[in-house]
Amino acid sequence: MKKREPIWREFSTSEEIRIAVRNVLKGFKLETEFESALISDLIAERHYFCSLKGLRPSKFKKVHVYGEQLQGYFDGIVWHPVSWYRSAGKPPTVRGQISDALRLRIKPLKAPYFQNHRICEYCNSVPSVEIHHEALEWREIMDMIFSEVFASDVDSVMESWDWFNKDEFEIPDGSRIALVFDRIHESAVLKALCKKCHNSTKRRTRA
Ligand SMILES: [Zn+2]
Repeated sequence: MKKREPIWREFSTSEEIRIAVRNVLKGFKLETEFESALISDLIAERHYFCSLKGLRPSKFKKVHVYGEQLQGYFDGIVWHPVSWYRSAGKPPTVRGQISDALRLRIKPLKAPYFQNHRICEYCNSVPSVEIHHEALEWREIMDMIFSEVFASDVDSVMESWDWFNKDEFEIPDGSRIALVFDRIHESAVLKALCKKCHNSTKRRTRA
């Protein structure tokens, strides 16, 4: 069988990276500080925030058995949880991170819509579980934003993110991305959908 191209170092899949990390982790007890060049590099190169900011934790400790939680020490800064499992996966794109942050931004808006539409608006029979962007579709909203804002607007919101203070990235109020998004989103049409109907919209957009 042809060997797959490596995705990082000598590893061909995320699972291979995770196995290598687990092999390191199992050698240490909870709360015991240890160093691992492999895990330091992984976080520095593939973690969604550390790779952006050029941060490399110098040592680690396991803090919890459940969920294989790991804390990294950032020199002169602080101990902070680092998600090695996620870092072994596909590194996020800037567009993906902005998209996630914008979804977070409209959470307070989606909640009341959901409360008022408990039955799926497509099939009218099953309880709704998801809020779907009917028009514009989310992808179109994202395309519009990226066609209107400058690269420097994107850089400045990414730059403003302080992960040590808040794990989840939020788009700052008053930033150009927030202004453009809020304007576009004012006319967005939402639909509350059941799981099955929501999945069918995904297939439709992909087609
Ligand atoms: Zn439905």
